[in-house]
Amino acid sequence: MRVLWVTNDLPPRAGGIQQFVANLLDRVHPHETVVIGPAGGMEAIAHDAAQPYRTVRAPGAVLPTRPTRRLIVDVARAHDAQVIVLGATWPLGELAPGLDRALGVPIVALSHGLEAGLARPGAGHLIRRATRGLTAVTAITAWTEQRLAPYVRADRLERLPPGVDVERFTPEVDGRGQREAWGVPPDATLLGCISRLVPRKGQDALVEVWPELRRRHPDAWLALVGEGPLEPRLRRAVGRLGSDGRVVMPGRVPWPELPASYAALDVFAMPCRTRLAGTDVEGLGIVYLEAQACGVPVVAGRSGGAPEAVHDGVTGSVVDGRDSDELLAALDRWLSDPAGRRVAGEAGTAWTRRRWAWTAIAERFASLLDEVTTPGRTAGRRSPGDGPRG
Ligand code: GDP
Repeated sequence: MRVLWVTNDLPPRAGGIQQFVANLLDRVHPHETVVIGPAGGMEAIAHDAAQPYRTVRAPGAVLPTRPTRRLIVDVARAHDAQVIVLGATWPLGELAPGLDRALGVPIVALSHGLEAGLARPGAGHLIRRATRGLTAVTAITAWTEQRLAPYVRADRLERLPPGVDVERFTPEVDGRGQREAWGVPPDATLLGCISRLVPRKGQDALVEVWPELRRRHPDAWLALVGEGPLEPRLRRAVGRLGSDGRVVMPGRVPWPELPASYAALDVFAMPCRTRLAGTDVEGLGIVYLEAQACGVPVVAGRSGGAPEAVHDGVTGSVVDGRDSDELLAALDRWLSDPAGRRVAGEAGTAWTRRRWAWTAIAERFASLLDEVTTPGRTAGRRSPGDGPRG
């Protein structure tokens, strides 16, 4: 199957969508795929050269513009693409009607947290517009699917969650070297968050409850891994905790060090919360899956699809990310209970292997591509009675 991917989200840039796209690319027809991705520097050149698929880097960002459409049409013709996959529904889906006219091949788009955030009165027309020319749209969680359904005008809306690489993220990974690199004592109880430093993720809430946690747990340390616009503010808040703050902020870790970074932690916490009138919402939170796969219990925020990424009470806890008492209680509980952490960690590894392994998710995606490219296959098509599609 000759596939053309079009995406603005591609490694080596970090992020959930980048991971999602890269994992599907690796597993579904990699040798018959061409990817159009955003401009990148030397790191991108090196990354692309190591992949089994060919990557064409656009001159800038991959946005729904005329030059992008021309590039896609040229590459699709040269590659004789049978199907086009858009890495995101919005805004890239706006290219679909023009591509359909020019190429006449099925177009499938992935959706993520952002699209679900737009799927509401006042912004839903953006989703309607972006799904007009699509054959299928995928949704990452039950929550996002429910939000999108009234606005999606594609023939099909299918569940396709991102997964976790359970071969890479395992409890066998040794995190001791990473701790040492961060300056955390080997016998400390380490609470941590690995994520972009942006307001939605809630690292500031961790810093807020930290003085009390530190008081209750004199051996506890906090690691805030990642980079982002919130970094200066977080560093100032951490600085105010004084020289005995026991907080490390090592910045963004390179991809190969990610598993060891999770393995270094005893508890993972990202108390995300929905912001900006519901538009800034956590679609799922791959980091929760990665942490659990490594056998680390997680504390997640009740935002969008994030609660679906945790087996609440078994592999971790789900809390209101704006309620510092609830957050403090959950963190206190996990920091106090090494035996409970071990049990939850084992349950998390088993659960992610069963429910979130990439192999099964990639198979589902491959079947979807088969179905949309097989003439006459209409199973699962949405009928006009499925909901208001305006
Ligand atoms: P999103 O960024 O809002 O899409 O959040 P997700 O939790 O869904 O996905 C984030 C992805 O980026 C996960 O695979 C993380 O492991 C990865 N990530 C977050 N922080 C870092 C970092 O500092 N370094 C690297 N290499 N990856 C990171």
